[in-house]
Amino acid sequence: MKILKFGGKSLANGKGIQTVVDIIEKRAKKGEAITVVLSARGASTNELEEILIKASKNENYKAQLEAFKRYQLLADETLDAQEEFHVLDTIFEGVSLLGDYSEKIKDKVLSQGEILSARLVTQLLKNKGVNAHFTDSRSLIITDDQFGNAQPLDVLSKENVQQHFKKYNGTTVNVVTGFIASNIHQETTTLGRNGSNYTASLLASFLDAEELENFTHVDGIYTANPDLVTDAKKIKKLSFTEANELAHFGANVLHAKTIIPLIQKKIPLRILNTFDSENEGTLITSEESENGIKKLSVLENVSLISLEGRGLLGRVGIDARIFQVLAQADVSISIISQGSSERGIGFIVDREKAIKAKKVLEEEFKTDIYKKDVSEITVKNEVSVVSIIGQDLSTFHKPYNRLIKNQIVPLLLNNSATGKNVSLVVQKKQLHKALNVIHGEIYGSIKKINLAIFGHGLVGGTLINQILRSTQEIVKRKNIQLNIFAIANSKKIICRKEGVDGQWEAALEEEGIPYTIEDVIRYADEHHLENLIAIDNTASKDFVNKYTHLIAHGFDLVSSNKVANTMEYPFYKSLRNTLTNYQKQYLYETNVGAGLPLIETIKLLHLSGENITRIKGVFSGSLSYLFNTFSKQDTPFSTVLQEAMDSGFTEPDPREDLCGNDVGRKLLILARELDLKNEMDDVTIHNLIPEHLREGTAQEFIGKLKEFDIIFAQIKAAQKEGHVLRYIGDLHGDLSKEKGILDVQLVSVPEGSSLGQVKGSDSIFEIYTESYGDHPMVIQGAGAGASVTARGVFGDILKVAQSIH
Ligand code: ASP
Ligand code: MG
Repeated sequence: MKILKFGGKSLANGKGIQTVVDIIEKRAKKGEAITVVLSARGASTNELEEILIKASKNENYKAQLEAFKRYQLLADETLDAQEEFHVLDTIFEGVSLLGDYSEKIKDKVLSQGEILSARLVTQLLKNKGVNAHFTDSRSLIITDDQFGNAQPLDVLSKENVQQHFKKYNGTTVNVVTGFIASNIHQETTTLGRNGSNYTASLLASFLDAEELENFTHVDGIYTANPDLVTDAKKIKKLSFTEANELAHFGANVLHAKTIIPLIQKKIPLRILNTFDSENEGTLITSEESENGIKKLSVLENVSLISLEGRGLLGRVGIDARIFQVLAQADVSISIISQGSSERGIGFIVDREKAIKAKKVLEEEFKTDIYKKDVSEITVKNEVSVVSIIGQDLSTFHKPYNRLIKNQIVPLLLNNSATGKNVSLVVQKKQLHKALNVIHGEIYGSIKKINLAIFGHGLVGGTLINQILRSTQEIVKRKNIQLNIFAIANSKKIICRKEGVDGQWEAALEEEGIPYTIEDVIRYADEHHLENLIAIDNTASKDFVNKYTHLIAHGFDLVSSNKVANTMEYPFYKSLRNTLTNYQKQYLYETNVGAGLPLIETIKLLHLSGENITRIKGVFSGSLSYLFNTFSKQDTPFSTVLQEAMDSGFTEPDPREDLCGNDVGRKLLILARELDLKNEMDDVTIHNLIPEHLREGTAQEFIGKLKEFDIIFAQIKAAQKEGHVLRYIGDLHGDLSKEKGILDVQLVSVPEGSSLGQVKGSDSIFEIYTESYGDHPMVIQGAGAGASVTARGVFGDILKVAQSIH
């Protein structure tokens, strides 16, 4: 035998009642042995209570009563409800005359809701050929005289139930009224609000049912409220003990008295959704699950009261006084936390009781406030409580760290000494984010990383498209979801909290709006975006000045922009300090050698204590191409330069490459990785542009390229046999000192040497260290170009994303 219980919302007119009848019909016709327990339909119980109150106040209740009756007949006009309607008419008239009613009367009134409900369903089932039988639970469940919240008398009730069910063979479906019962004088009683659940579990227990199926309007029990946490998952199975802790269901379906009969008989309870037949719901059994489940629940409409003062230190009896006055004022305290120094105590009360609580406390501690022993009693209303049920302190550091990383600092913490339950009080405006952050951590659900990308030129644009193309794959492989919530150039921005799509360029063009960094920070804040990374693909110095601000507001940084690392040393240093203070990261692998893993390697060697003695190499892709080609071919320098310009290997004004500053900057960045305090001024740069060509427009310059030919023909000719020209950066000197020697120069090297063998537009870096001696570690490959640079930035983003815990 299975017991099927249907709640009021399931039985409402329309889709509800139809579905319920379908479900019962199907199960009955399959030959299953089932018993049905029903609540009153829709909001009937509340309606009846309201009418009763109106009648007792001598208000006009007639219209509402008529509406109630119409509602009851809507699903089937042929339902004979004369008797129940008559009972109601008579009682309401009497109450209206008397101006008062007893709990006993109220039970009689409310019980009509369940009777009408069970009569209707019985009739609808019979119409469909189901052998249904209306069963008035008042003749089965016998209780004490506590009207409104009566206690069943187990022995009597059990006997009645078993007797009754013995009379029916397997094909009859008893349709039983929930909630209602009678005392030994056959007067109607009720089992308390939501009591149909109780009726159902009593029947299950008396009949040794296989299972109790509780049909509700939700899919089951979730790990968190799905309205607030998108990743909330339905819990398939849990134990009664665990279920007991779940505040949300605790009040009705899982009320202690309801589940005790089930626990005693080890009868499983399944929570199902009437409106979703596919769903298997949540199964609750007496079996303890192995790992324990975790669930987040939220308490809103609360206030945080704090009492502070140095006079509280070590004084006995303060807590007792607090509890006593609050108890006298009927204020209940839900969560308390007190520092071991006892200089302050904080606790949570219902929002509506907060003012009263403050008043009585101020009264009680009047003298202490006067003596300045108590400095302040404050009330904070904009707070919420998040409870992690099933959480103990041994692993709490994980969700806690993740909260702090997301700049959510709990106002108060509390763990239950027995059982597993940690509660935190957070600012109300951070609740949404806090829930998602904690949930993501404890369920290892997809980690969402929110990216703001600044600059969408060659590198930025390529990066955005690379990210959009790989999003799915990264979710699959790493459980990380990259969400680009903002794209900006120097003038305009688009913000999309759910992420931009392939049409981002058009969107920015058409819907982009002017912005400041503040706007971006505010947007992230208002939309509760977690795990933020700002990506700088600009070449702007202005933007670099915003770094500190972004870090302070919870952003990690990834950048292809070299400016921040080549500004004066004090700025460089203070940026690192800010990063440490806020525990944020800043990655910029593409600053040197595009996507080649150069900075990472140098950092690792340096950190591990390996002494790096020299770094030397071809740092610039464009100059690499230029000299590799020129050294090999018998072509004038200007022709090779023109070719390089035509194939887009140089900047639009090739002097930016030829002047050597870019190589100088890269060299400085590497030097600083080794903790050298060099400045840009320290770099000696061999500028390849003849002095008289350094001024003037790009156009003018490009007209005079031929002037290079004679100079470079001479340099080439002056070389030793089998040598080639290379434009290199060289960091050397005593690198254990404060500063190193930084040279950018044109050199002639043997063709077979590692610098000499470089081809095309490749970069090469030789890292000399103490352990490697004369055999440097060599990193070589494509060191320039939009797509490899974008890949490098992408790699940095993934590194940061993975390290956010
Ligand atoms: N109809 C009653 C109520 O609304 C009992 C129940 O639904 O379980 O409280
Ligand atoms: Mg109900």
